[in-house]
Amino acid sequence: MLVTAKLYPDEIPNWINGQERKSANNELFDKLRPADGSLMCRVVRSRAEAVDQAVVAAKQAQPVWADVPAVKRGEVLHEIVLAMKAHQAEIARIVAEETGKSYKEAYGETGGAIALGLFYASEGQRLYGRTTTSGTPNKYAMTVRQPVGVAGLIIAANTPIANVAWKVFPALICGNAAVLKAAEDTPVTAWIFGKLAHAAGLPAGVLNVVQGYGEEAGQPLVAHPDVDVISFTGSTEVGRLVQRIAGERLAKISLELGGKNPLVVCDDADLDNAVKWVVLSAFSNAGQRCAAGSRIIVFESIYEQFREMLVARTQMLKVGPTDDDDFGPVINETQLKNMLTAIERARQSGALILTGGEQLSDPAYGQGFYLSPTIIERVDRRHEISEQELFGPITILYRVKDFEEALALANDSPYGLTASIHTRSLHRAIRFCDKVQAGVVVVNAGTYGSEPHMPFGGLKASGNGTREPGTEALDVYSELKDVYINIDPSQL
Ligand code: NAD
Repeated sequence: MLVTAKLYPDEIPNWINGQERKSANNELFDKLRPADGSLMCRVVRSRAEAVDQAVVAAKQAQPVWADVPAVKRGEVLHEIVLAMKAHQAEIARIVAEETGKSYKEAYGETGGAIALGLFYASEGQRLYGRTTTSGTPNKYAMTVRQPVGVAGLIIAANTPIANVAWKVFPALICGNAAVLKAAEDTPVTAWIFGKLAHAAGLPAGVLNVVQGYGEEAGQPLVAHPDVDVISFTGSTEVGRLVQRIAGERLAKISLELGGKNPLVVCDDADLDNAVKWVVLSAFSNAGQRCAAGSRIIVFESIYEQFREMLVARTQMLKVGPTDDDDFGPVINETQLKNMLTAIERARQSGALILTGGEQLSDPAYGQGFYLSPTIIERVDRRHEISEQELFGPITILYRVKDFEEALALANDSPYGLTASIHTRSLHRAIRFCDKVQAGVVVVNAGTYGSEPHMPFGGLKASGNGTREPGTEALDVYSELKDVYINIDPSQL
C-alpha cells in the first residue's frame, strides 16, 4: 500500500473528501530540507477556495460520522493507530527529513503520537457525561457529550506527527469532522497521516488536510462560518489574531501558544541532574518546543559553579541531523535569521554570550539552518530577549539571591506555560508547585515531558485557558447537553 522506495510524491496535494486534490491554479510552494537547504518537494498553495471545499466536505460528512456509535468511531481510530504502527518507520523518515531532527528522535515522536491515538481510540468506550440528582421528585438529570460540528485544526511544525495526533484524534472521537491546516514547514507528515487515515477506513470527508500558508489557508479556515470549533497551536501573536477573528462569530476556540519557561536551580539542587535537564530543556529538538527551558534562574551561591558546568556540558553537544547528534537545525531560514538578530540585539545592549550565538556554517552543514547552542547572561529582565519567545536553541541565565526572588522572577513573564525547579527541599518544591504561574510544573526534571493522557496548556499569553490532550481535550471538541427525564408514577 504505502511502502514504496519514494515515500511521498514530488507535489504534495490536499486531502479533500477522501481524495488527493492538486492545486486548482497550479500554485505551489517549495518545501526545503532544514538539514541542508535542498528542495524536498513542492506543495499545494491552498487559498480560501480550497479551504471552502474542505469545509463543505467536512460539513457533509459530519452528521453521518456523528451517528456512528462512539465505540465504533474508536474502532476506526484504532485502525488508524495500527496503520501508524505498521508504518512508524516511514512516518519517522518523513518527520526527520522535513524537520531535520534525527530519525531516532522522529521515531520516538511518532511513538508518542501512536500512544496518544490509542488513548483517544479507547475514549470511544467512555466519553463520560454525568448522572446526578434532581431537586424535583420523579425527575432524572444527566449530561451527555455531543459533537461540536466541523473542527478547524491549525498546527505548528515543531513536532509534526505529535501535533497532528494531538488534535485529530480527540476531534474525531467526539464525532466531529475536521479540516486540518498543516504547518507549511511540515506538509508531508500531514499528507501521509491523511493517506493512512483514508486507507484505514476513515469515511471520506471526516478528515480533510489542507496545505498552505497561514494567512492564505489558515485564516480563511478561522473565518469560515461553517467551522464550529477552532483549535490552534502556534505563536501568541497569531493566536491573538485567531481569537479576534473566530471570536467575532463566537466560534469555540482553543489556543495552545508560546512559552518562556523558567527552570530554577536552588542551592540545594543535585547540580549534575540540573545541568542534564537544563541542556535537554533548552536544546533538545533545537529548542523548538513551546515548553523549552529558556530562562534558567540560578541561586547566586552556586551560580559560578553551575554556569561552568553548564557551559562545559553545552560545548560537548553535537549538532547535526544524525542519530549520533544531540539536536538538528531549526525549521527554516527565517527562523534562523530572527534568532541571530535577537542575539545580536542582546549583545549590543550589554548581554554576554557565554557560548554559541552563531550560525554553524562548516561545509558539512551545507546550506542547512543550524544555530550553535547558545547561553546568554547579563540580560536585563525587561529586555525583549527576556520576554519574547525565540523558539530555538537559546537560553538565558539569571542570578537570584534566594527562593522568593527566584519565584518572583519565574512569574515575571508575559507567558505561563511550563516551569521546573531543582531542589532537595520538599518545602521549596511544594511551595514552587503551588505558586508558580504555569499550566505544567515539574520537580527535578525538565520543563517539558508532558504525557498524552494529561491535560496540557498555559496561563497568561500561553493560551486561553483550554487544555489538550488528556480527557480535558474532550471539553474542547464536544458540547455538553443536559438531559432531564420526567416520569409519571401514576402511569405505571
Ligand atoms: P505560527 O503562529 O507562525 O504558525 C502556526 C500555524 O499557524 C501554522 O500552521 C501557520 O501556517 C498558521 N498561521 C499563521 N498565520 C496564520 C493566520 N493569520 N491565520 C491562521 N493561521 C495562521 O507559529 P510557528 O512559528 O509555526 O510555531 C511556533 C509557535 O508555536 C511557538 O510560539 C510555540 O511555542 C508554539 N507552540 C505551542 C504549543 C503548545 O502546545 N502550547 C505546541 C507547539 C508549538
